[in-house]
Formats: sequence, structure tokens, C-alpha cells
Amino acid sequence: MVEWHKATVAEIHDETATARSLRLKIDDWPGQLSGQHLDIRVTAPDGYQASREYSIASGASTDPDALVEVSIEELADGELSPYLVRGVEVGDMLEVRGPVGGYFVWRPEQTDPVQLIAGGSGVVPLMSMLRTHAAAGHPTPMRLLYSVRAPEFVFYMHELMQLAQNSNDSVMLDYAYTRQTPDGWPRSAGRLTRDEVVQLTLPPEQNPMTYICGPNSFVENIAMWMVDLGHPAERVRTERFGGA
Ligand SMILES: Cc1cc2nc3c(=O)[nH]c(=O)nc-3n(C[C@H](O)[C@H](O)[C@H](O)COP(=O)(O)OP(=O)(O)OC[C@H]3O[C@@H](n4cnc5c(N)ncnc54)[C@H](O)[C@@H]3O)c2cc1C
Repeated sequence: MVEWHKATVAEIHDETATARSLRLKIDDWPGQLSGQHLDIRVTAPDGYQASREYSIASGASTDPDALVEVSIEELADGELSPYLVRGVEVGDMLEVRGPVGGYFVWRPEQTDPVQLIAGGSGVVPLMSMLRTHAAAGHPTPMRLLYSVRAPEFVFYMHELMQLAQNSNDSVMLDYAYTRQTPDGWPRSAGRLTRDEVVQLTLPPEQNPMTYICGPNSFVENIAMWMVDLGHPAERVRTERFGGA
């Protein structure tokens, strides 16, 4: 059985008005691959415990002393995320179990082009892949299609821009805003359509490995379209965060 590790909240920063990143110092942490997640457990003073899964945003690492970043979006009616986003302070202790997952991972040894598709906070494990790609100075094309409510809900905005700028054109970013766009944006706000997915993703002829992450219905629709467009099902990997 995977054991629980003590984790100290070492750093906190806001990603958006409703989400923040926690950097954790986790005792005896074995490191992680890009795309893996961990479980966070919180114990109330009366002994009540709750745990939830969170993807790891930090790049791949084997350094047990490296801080491990998670980025959490608050669900207003949720049990744990409001506490993790607004209640936790630097120095607080949590418990963490993991890393978990071996399928939804990208390793720098992979040389095929990569298509990443995120819905909302589903960008978190994909950010880990982009960070690992950047740290390795990887020449493989990595394209991110990021569906997000509005510009102010974009996670990692400046870092994403810098990763693309410093990537020698190997990283491409496409944003699809669902509710509100920046001024003068060429695409109107709305959910991604199948035709847009054709235009904004690497074609099957390039044989990309595709990683899709976000709410259940987003992942199901986009994965169905990708397979329908000719991507082999085994090259379309998915991670579902829950919700509608
Ligand atoms: C493998 C995995 C990785 C995850 N990684 C992240 C991450 O990096 N960042 C992050 O913010 N969340 C992530 N989640 C979601 C997270 O585990 C929790 O479900 C989320 O924080 C809500 O927990 P809660 O206790 O606040 O809400 P709960 O009290 O558990 O649920 C409240 C309601 O919200 C719904 N709901 C749960 N998740 C979502 C969602 N993502 N979107 C819309 N509705 C939802 C539930 O179905 C329920 O009806 C991940 C989930 C999985 C399975």
C-alpha cells in the first residue's frame, strides 16, 4: 500500500482569483514523472479526514528535496478545494500520497510530436509536460490547445508565454476562450467545435501522442473527435478531473 507522507506548505501563489498553486516540501518523496498526480489528505481537529487527487504541475524530478507544485481551482460548493485555495497558509502541514499513474505520462525519451489539450484546470499535468520538455531543451514539437473561460482564468500565463518564446518554435500555444475573449481576439467566445479542433491540433499524419485533461464531458467529446479524425485510440490519452 502506498504510504502517506507529511507535506509542509512551503510557498503559495495565486494563479487566478479562484485558484492557487501550493509548493509542497514532502518528506521522503521519491520524485515524479510528468502527468502523474498525488492525493492530498486533510484532517480536521475532530479527526474527520478528506482526501482528493491533484495533478502535479512541477516537471519530472528525481530530487527528493525539490518542492512539488499543485494548482487547485476552487469549486464553490466543494468540500476540500475551498480550504486548499483559501484556508491553507505557508507552514501548514498536509498529508500526501503518491505519485500515482503510469499511463497519462510524458517522458523526455519520447520523440514523437505531442498534442496537449486542456479544459480549465486540466492544464496542470500538461504544464508539467511542458516544463519537462523545456528543462530538457527538447526539440520535439509540443502544441497546447487550452480551453478556458476567460483570460483572467488562465493558469501559468506568463510562464506559458515564455516557454513558447524560448522554445525555438517547438512549443505552440492556442487559446480557446469559452465565455469572454481578450479585446480584438479573432475567435468569438464559445466551446470548442470539432472543426476548430481540426484547425488547432497536430494532424494524424504527424502521428502525435495526444494528452487530454479536464472535466469529464470536455475530455469525452475531444477524445471522441480526435479518434474520429483518424488518431489511433491508443495514442489519445485522457485524464478526467470529475464534474460535468
Ligand atoms: C486524477 C485527478 C487529478 C486532478 N487534478 C486536479 C488539479 O490539478 N487541480 C484541480 O483543481 N482539481 C483536480 N482534480 C479534481 C479534484 O480531485 C477535486 O475533485 C476537486 O478539487 C473538487 O474537490 P472538492 O472537495 O472541492 O469538491 P467535492 O466536494 O468533491 O465535489 C463537489 C462537486 O463538484 C464536482 N466536481 C469535482 N471535480 C470537478 C471539476 N474538476 N470540475 C467541475 N466539477 C467538479 C463533483 O462531481 C461534485 O458534484 C483532479 C481529479 C482527478 C481525478
